[in-house]
Amino acid sequence: MLIVMRHGATPEEIKRVVAVIEEMGYGAQPMPGAQRTAVGLVGNDGRVDASRLEGLPGVQEVIQVTKPYKQVSREWKPEPTVVQLANGVSIGGSDVAVIAGPCSVENERQILDAARLVREAGAVALRGGAWKPRSSPYSFQGLGRPGLKLLAKAREETGLLICTEAMDPEGVGYVAEVADIIQIGARNMQNFSLLKAAGRAKKPVLLKRGLSATIEELLLSAEYLLAEGNHDVILCERGIRGFDTATRNVFDLTAIPVVHKLSHLPIIADPSHGTGLRDKVTPMARAAVAAGADGIMVEVHPDPDKALSDGAQSLFPEQFGQLMREIRVIAEVIGRRVAEPAPVGA
Ligand code: PEP
Ligand code: MN
Repeated sequence: MLIVMRHGATPEEIKRVVAVIEEMGYGAQPMPGAQRTAVGLVGNDGRVDASRLEGLPGVQEVIQVTKPYKQVSREWKPEPTVVQLANGVSIGGSDVAVIAGPCSVENERQILDAARLVREAGAVALRGGAWKPRSSPYSFQGLGRPGLKLLAKAREETGLLICTEAMDPEGVGYVAEVADIIQIGARNMQNFSLLKAAGRAKKPVLLKRGLSATIEELLLSAEYLLAEGNHDVILCERGIRGFDTATRNVFDLTAIPVVHKLSHLPIIADPSHGTGLRDKVTPMARAAVAAGADGIMVEVHPDPDKALSDGAQSLFPEQFGQLMREIRVIAEVIGRRVAEPAPVGA
């Protein structure tokens, strides 16, 4: 529920609304806007007596948010959320941010080479899993904490932001020490204890769409993060299961304008997991930027043939350079700009 204050409502009137909401046993979230302030009532269990709020001085109207997700909806917050990251990088504004790197952190040489090459081509963040959610327990599971240390080293050397996955609530603590963006993988989109832990972390979260999740389910999972107090949430379309085996997943680009309409949160696209095939990654990255994605996440490996995971969908370094050149042109056509990495040492 949203309590919209009149234009020119006084700070005392706003405080009174907050106090009454809290007295009723709910959370209150004042949101100053350009025209007027709204106060969000958090935790509505359907028993809120709206008339108690409608009658308060300074209140213009009380709006019922009609969607099952509340704080992530456009009804709650009409203007887009811009997630501010370190080094002046932001996701959700007019810039298109590129996050690139290998599927997994494998060893020092591999991750440092990957970091240097993606930075040179213009990525603003390095991706790479220290912990990997693999379908088979016999596949490479990631280096764990030593992998995080290597990511920290890559950050120090290149100035790139780090995006890496936390697989369980305990892992959130470790990952948050190093990562600029905590990734929640597709398989964990509905791991609610993980979502709650990430919602309490003081770092932005990248939430990937589940393999068979509807957009409504994706937004409800994001709601868990906001409900715990973390408003720095970036969504990611990474393809969903279909019946056709021609590609690894069906890369649902329609999700981008659909999410933009329903939610104020930024959404990026991952054509690597979306297609699973190296030669499909660049065309779909171009399409994602054209469709309005706020960024793209791409797997790139210094030597894809030797990758310990997802080699078949990892770009060769020169292919990534070409992709970057192409999306810069596309971004410009739609009035956007591909974000530039910060100077080293910034
Ligand atoms: C990944 O980004 O490394 C990953 C495992 O992706 P997803 O969770 O989308 O499968
Ligand atoms: Mn991968």
